[in-house]
Amino acid sequence: SETTASNFIYNIIEEDIKNNLYKNEEIHTRFPPEPNGYLHIGHAKSILLNYNTAQKYGGKFNLRFDDTNPTKEDVEYVESIKEDIKWLGANWEDRIFFASDYFEKMYQYALELIDKGLAYVDDLSAEEIREYRGTLNTPGKESPYRNRPTKESRELFEKMKNGEFPDGTRVLRAKIDMSSPNINMRDPVIYRILHATHHNTSNKWCIYPMYDFAHPIEDGIEGITHSLCTLEFEDHRPFYNWILENLDDYKERRPRQIEFAKLQLSRTIIGKRFIKKLVDDGMVDGWDDPRLMTISGMRRRGITPEAIQNFCEEIGIAKANSLVDIAMFEHFIRDDLKAKTRRLMAILDPIKVVITNYPEDQTEWLEIHNNQDNESLGYRKIPFSREIYIDRDDFMEVPPKKYFRLFPGNEVRLMGAYFITCNNVIKDDAGNILELHCTYDPETKSGSGFTGRKVKGTIHWVSASHCIKAEARLYDYLIKDESDIEEDSSTEDKINPNSMKVTTAYLEPELAKAKPGDKFQFVRNGYFCVDTKDSTEDHLVFNLTVNLKSSWRP
Ligand code: ATP
Ligand code: MG
Ligand code: MG
Repeated sequence: SETTASNFIYNIIEEDIKNNLYKNEEIHTRFPPEPNGYLHIGHAKSILLNYNTAQKYGGKFNLRFDDTNPTKEDVEYVESIKEDIKWLGANWEDRIFFASDYFEKMYQYALELIDKGLAYVDDLSAEEIREYRGTLNTPGKESPYRNRPTKESRELFEKMKNGEFPDGTRVLRAKIDMSSPNINMRDPVIYRILHATHHNTSNKWCIYPMYDFAHPIEDGIEGITHSLCTLEFEDHRPFYNWILENLDDYKERRPRQIEFAKLQLSRTIIGKRFIKKLVDDGMVDGWDDPRLMTISGMRRRGITPEAIQNFCEEIGIAKANSLVDIAMFEHFIRDDLKAKTRRLMAILDPIKVVITNYPEDQTEWLEIHNNQDNESLGYRKIPFSREIYIDRDDFMEVPPKKYFRLFPGNEVRLMGAYFITCNNVIKDDAGNILELHCTYDPETKSGSGFTGRKVKGTIHWVSASHCIKAEARLYDYLIKDESDIEEDSSTEDKINPNSMKVTTAYLEPELAKAKPGDKFQFVRNGYFCVDTKDSTEDHLVFNLTVNLKSSWRP
């Protein structure tokens, strides 16, 4: 889908086009995940921004794995990322790249900087380098190795590459300015020694480029015109530009880095590191737990790519961080499912109702529409019989004012069936309600055109002898209400201990045909989706996608 809304990034691009900055080149963007975890809704915002920007200007969109950190990366993550981006609807076509494929080129560029006197091998320890770097208010101190001859740095760097030194003994640093007010410009480390096996290059390398050195080069190699990243990289932009300015290959044309605000959502956890901790600690059922706002978790929960696209479109792209209310996302989830899903009946907390004047062995198959707002979803048949279940919420023995559902002496409509009146409440010795005895009026059959009298309440129901049982997983937010949380509380304190409730649902028999991933509205209860991991033909499992009530207004 093409983005129509404007944003400040489009304004910059249009200015660049007007100034003929990119000559005959197409606008070119990229999404550069590090394959060290699964993607989340924040990444979705970035993917769609990059993809839609390329689409809008008839340009190109790359998927690039930023895999320069071998100890944290894995092919499992590469595969999940590809699946999630495809599902989201962004198409990289044949433009899939791995930063690790550029290691040789990066190494050559490092040599170029050394030869130009712009990089040096430093023998200080990591701790010393940190000390020498200084702080925001104090200038840095130059390393005693900073002015070693170019030739010596070159030889040492080659030895680093050839595996002659152990991890951590030397690094290659850019030679910029130890007194720069921007700490990122105080001779940043650009290569480190790391004897580790890489998921792509195996043991070919024992030196690895640092992110801030690798990223501009990756963008440069791929001909990216606009490198869109999140705000925390704003202070890194001078170094991004410094690298490209000092490499001969990028004298002519350089990608432009533009920062935008990260998506932050209330009542949830975004951030791979935190999600990974929940997964590793067994607090959730893997990366695709439906409570997580990972793309795979959202998919399993029953959220659609269209809902995510529409939500991202609505929040837009800004230059300042802000927390988005999750209720707004839920609005877009419902908004997309509303017309797409069939509305079926399910009882999550049953009370049995016996319709005492209905024949014992009779079943009527009543025709009912699947979605009154979408005629194309057609009709189905539902069985009606003497014993039914209704939701416990729909009955009160002593009703408050304005309660229009079932109570002793009151008449309500059973959705798609008949009016019933409650005559008797049957209880056990302890006073617990066992069942309700009601009578129905045959003249009030749905669709018969009966206009004799009106009732104020309509409730849903299933036939007790025809319904099927399934597991329903009802989710609440993973994070407690922000207002309950102390300033200094740890992540664990923020976790809602009651974020999942498992219950038995009684479903109309039509739902026996439901397949993993199928989505429905359970009338008056919420949107539900068949779980893709745990649901089987003999034991259906439904996930609550979102309830029906909205607290957010567009
Ligand atoms: P996290 O902060 O969750 O660990 P990351 O930024 O380390 O994410 P990367 O794999 O490096 O993860 O992210 C790829 C791209 O996604 C980056 O360009 C990053 O800026 C962007 N991105 C990550 N989180 C968000 C977010 N919450 N909102 C928008 N974009 C994001
Ligand atoms: Mg990152
Ligand atoms: Mg991160």
